[in-house]
Amino acid sequence: MVSAGGVVCIIVGIIIFIFGLMILGFSLSLPVLFAGQYLILGGLVIVAGIVLIVLGARTGKKKRQIEYEPPVICKNCGSNNAAASEFCGKCGIKIR
Ligand SMILES: [Zn+2]
Repeated sequence: MVSAGGVVCIIVGIIIFIFGLMILGFSLSLPVLFAGQYLILGGLVIVAGIVLIVLGARTGKKKRQIEYEPPVICKNCGSNNAAASEFCGKCGIKIR
């Protein structure tokens, strides 16, 4: 499953993608002189949308990997630390 942040990223990406398609459609109704600029703009907006969708999908995968490793709980102060950390972020003692 993709995380909530990833889903928002994908939805925004799809909206931007559709917006890009609308710009492309709009450019077709313009005189050829102006159409080129709108075609480039529409293309860029579509690419931006695709990038957001891909980033959103990747965020979900990354989050799943992080969740796989449980946080390390400090024996001294009881605060949660990232699985990769060697020292406690709150009191500074060695936790590994
Ligand atoms: Zn601590």
